[in-house]
Amino acid sequence: MDYRIDELENYTEEDAIQTILDEHPELRLLWENLSELFFEPVINGVNPVAHVYFEAIAETQIATGDPPEARDAMERLLQQGYTRHAARGAVAALLIPHLYDSLQNRKPFDIEGYTRRLRVLGTLLRLPERNDLCFCGSGWKYKRCCGPLGSIMTPSRFAGRLILGYGAYAGPEVLVDLPHDDPLLQLENKVYVADILGRNGLAEAAWAVLEENLSLVREWGDEKFLKRALQDLLELNHELEMELGGRAVPVVEELIEMATGEEELRDLLCDRADFMAAGGAVDEAHEAYRQILANIPHWHFGRYRYALFLLSYEMEEEGERVLRELVAAKETIDAETYREARGMLEDMMEGRRLEAEAEQRRLAEKT
Ligand SMILES: [Zn+2]
Ligand SMILES: [Zn+2]
Repeated sequence: MDYRIDELENYTEEDAIQTILDEHPELRLLWENLSELFFEPVINGVNPVAHVYFEAIAETQIATGDPPEARDAMERLLQQGYTRHAARGAVAALLIPHLYDSLQNRKPFDIEGYTRRLRVLGTLLRLPERNDLCFCGSGWKYKRCCGPLGSIMTPSRFAGRLILGYGAYAGPEVLVDLPHDDPLLQLENKVYVADILGRNGLAEAAWAVLEENLSLVREWGDEKFLKRALQDLLELNHELEMELGGRAVPVVEELIEMATGEEELRDLLCDRADFMAAGGAVDEAHEAYRQILANIPHWHFGRYRYALFLLSYEMEEEGERVLRELVAAKETIDAETYREARGMLEDMMEGRRLEAEAEQRRLAEKT
């Protein structure tokens, strides 16, 4: 957009926020659900909401020309080849310490220092010595003036970029060379945005964010990324099974098609049965479990998963029987399955004991 003052009479912070969100599409669903969050969306130490707000304040200053130095700095950086996002990000980065200084020390915003620094933002070729006079023209020594701002005064081409984490689609060594709008960075960021939404119980929004990733990797046709996007959806359905029901059934079926090993396949078959049940098809899920165990009779952990399924759908007797069989077969089954099965059985017994005690107390109160 071109900034002409006569068109900006009704320019509001909301306009600025929309401009920023257009450039940070990975945050749009987070933004739309802000009022539903019950804890601060801080991701690996970064608050993406604050990121949007600071960029929106900078955007408002640039758009309205108040202060004019903000727009001048923006234009200078654009001429130097910065993207609009990076140029605005550089202004926002300078704004932030001035805002904090004002809030923390309860003093008026240092508009004089801020505009003086905006005037030289991006003009510095070489950092001065600590005891040199500061290049911003304050008359102070560099170490007492712009020195503490460090790299903010010599902005990078990646200013304004948001990296919420790494490792899902790309490592840090790849992400560090990507501009903010690179699809790979968007994919990576959305994994963490979905995590925040999911942990706030916003299952639908989290699912929608991960589905955006799925459509993107389908366009790319990258098998490894496709698998990752499907697995993210599957994990979310595991975590929020109550809210999402059997949403991941088609997802898990696609993963079954792609499975490369026996272990991977059998886990996915159990996942499929679990999601079918979560979607209401409990009888079909029961039958699916029976088939899995008939085909792989010595898979003990599969039996344990079967027991959990039975217990979840009010088939306690059969569930308990499967657990007892596993515990009795201690010598012939793997240690992990034995431990899990015994722990589960003990929890059940403890639960029953507490229930019986409560019942006795109720009876005693009556008489
Ligand atoms: Zn200075
Ligand atoms: Zn940004």
